Amino acid sequence: MYTEDDLLPISALQHLRFCRRRCALIHLEGLWTENRFTAEGNLLHRRVHEESDSTDDGVRISRGLRLASLRLGLFGVADVVEFHGDNIVHCDRPTPTKRGGPSGLVVEQVPGQPFPVEYKRGKRKPEQAYRVQLCAQALCLEEMLGVDVSLGALYFGKSRRRMPVEFDLSLRQETERLAAELHQLLDSGQTPPPEPGAKCKSCSMQPLCLPKGVGRRSAVAYVVRSVSHILDEQDHEEA
Ligand code: SF4
Repeated sequence: MYTEDDLLPISALQHLRFCRRRCALIHLEGLWTENRFTAEGNLLHRRVHEESDSTDDGVRISRGLRLASLRLGLFGVADVVEFHGDNIVHCDRPTPTKRGGPSGLVVEQVPGQPFPVEYKRGKRKPEQAYRVQLCAQALCLEEMLGVDVSLGALYFGKSRRRMPVEFDLSLRQETERLAAELHQLLDSGQTPPPEPGAKCKSCSMQPLCLPKGVGRRSAVAYVVRSVSHILDEQDHEEA
């Protein structure tokens, strides 16, 4: 069991699943760069959190619910948690798994369980890092409320579609393993070296992580050198 002082953000799990170095640059070194994707994502989350809680067709919809797990040492905020009572949860699925309803709509029976929904920009994509983030929210809800949470959904802003996520044993185990790894990584105080790959193309940290001509040298050292260079130039102009 962790204490409240040990809690780390659930969002860090998503970064860790994507790239250990990205996670350390953001959560250890406090670096952040915005690109179009992160800016759009932040805007979407802000809009969701600004809306008030509501009840729709017997489903209580809670927005911006604070979450925590002392077992995993995590805290965060859920975009949306639906409380369905004895109602049913509607999810979109690709056509091959269609079990009824129009255009791939299937009905998942989840009576009495909280149903977390995480909002993402862009189109539907089965990103495992997103699934881990959502599963961590489900594990927090289970610990906080003492109930089972077996299903949630990712909502994609561009396609306006939900993708169901089942919190099966393998996803739960991966989420728990990553939570432990997150604590080890941030406790170590060491930023791992770059892991160049296709993922770097969509990574907002690329300018700090892999600056051209700098190779594997520390991103922080690179930033310090860049800032020193700018200050030197300003001094030179003022002189
Ligand atoms: S640019 Fe690549 S190696 Fe660097 S943090 Fe991003 S994903 Fe990781």
